[in-house]
Amino acid sequence: MPFASLGLSPALARAAAALGFASPTPVQAQAIPAILRGADVWASAQTGSGKTAAFVLPLLQQHQDIALARAPGTGARRVHTLVLVPTRELAAQVGEVLRSLAQPLPQPPKVVVAFGGVSINPQMMALRGGADVVVATPGRLLDLVEHKALKLSAVQSLVLDEADRLLDLGFSEELNRVLALLPPRRQNLFFSATFPPAVQALAHSLLHEPVRVEVAHEPEQALSIAQRAMAVDTGRRTQLLRHLITQEGWERVLVFVATKYTAEVVAEKLYKAGIHATPFHGDLSQGARTQVLQEFKDARWQVVVTTDLAARGIDIAQLPVVVNYDLPRSAVDYVHRIGRTGRAGASGLAVSFVTADAEAHFRLIEKRQHLSLPREQVAGFEPTEQAPASPAGSAEGTGGIKGKRPSKKDKLRAAAAAAAAESGN
Ligand code: AMP
Repeated sequence: MPFASLGLSPALARAAAALGFASPTPVQAQAIPAILRGADVWASAQTGSGKTAAFVLPLLQQHQDIALARAPGTGARRVHTLVLVPTRELAAQVGEVLRSLAQPLPQPPKVVVAFGGVSINPQMMALRGGADVVVATPGRLLDLVEHKALKLSAVQSLVLDEADRLLDLGFSEELNRVLALLPPRRQNLFFSATFPPAVQALAHSLLHEPVRVEVAHEPEQALSIAQRAMAVDTGRRTQLLRHLITQEGWERVLVFVATKYTAEVVAEKLYKAGIHATPFHGDLSQGARTQVLQEFKDARWQVVVTTDLAARGIDIAQLPVVVNYDLPRSAVDYVHRIGRTGRAGASGLAVSFVTADAEAHFRLIEKRQHLSLPREQVAGFEPTEQAPASPAGSAEGTGGIKGKRPSKKDKLRAAAAAAAAESGN
């Protein structure tokens, strides 16, 4: 099915083709005609489903219609489209999709991207003379409104992208303040990967007779990601990672770890071993984060070691391998992490390192995902650790378990007890 058959103008259909989009993904096929009709949309869609272009393409078409109707030179631009996103990375990414799809249009909209953690001044400068489309995180958007850098009274379309994440990150109050600044009559587009009760309540309060778009689990997408689990000892994971990167010839790898510190340590060890690796986490400045991502996209880094900061929203085309060095906290996080690979039908590989003490946790993730992965063992890295013994059995049979051998203190205590027993005889 070609894009043009969804009601998009030939210019936009060509813009999509220029980005290599041969035909619409399921979320695009359902959402685009509804958005073009002016309907509200309730879309349950993961990142990787093509959800960004699903709202960007029809919103650009609406912009074209507005731009064509507007007489040239008639006053400043007024924000007609507002996209709210939870993170800086997603803001930058949506802005990039907007700009690249708008580029070939005869009258492309002025797009301004705004997020916190960086100086507000360049964003205020960018808003001089107005803007047509603003992509922003809620807190910074409110700051800009307070600075009188923009008005929201002419917004015709509102997009909430990754609404579940917006609430997860505690943006609910800011969101309400932004909503109060918008005209009541407008189109609302609601995109979320999950719909827990708070997200459903928000959707109900916001949407008017929405068209429902449900493509949460595209089978071809799930199938395009090969998932593997490797049993390994905790202290040998970095060596195993190094071994796999070299032996399997992985050219681009995103490695997930639990803490910023681990991200630093693992990246440094890999780097010292001659693998081009760098950390990515929330302690880096926004400038450094943007740079790392761009360099990773440009294939200047082979490995990026990250916390869950990169698990959502970040789109790195042709990312073949994701490694869970530390397991994610939940099954939902697992889906988001492995969703960084196998994007929009490309094939990908997700490898999870399963240490003995994480085995029970991984089984829970498998259960929630309806998965059952064999635990592979890599020659030379066969695990020797076992799951921690239950307290009842801890006195016996622990000799072979790392960390369970009697410590020096235990031996001293035992010797003292034996001596006391002897002297008492
Ligand atoms: P998203 O879910 O919006 O983060 O998009 C995931 C990835 O799919 C991005 O790399 C897009 O460039 C790509 N993509 C979006 N739409 C299509 C399409 N119709 N055909 C192929 N790739 C697409």
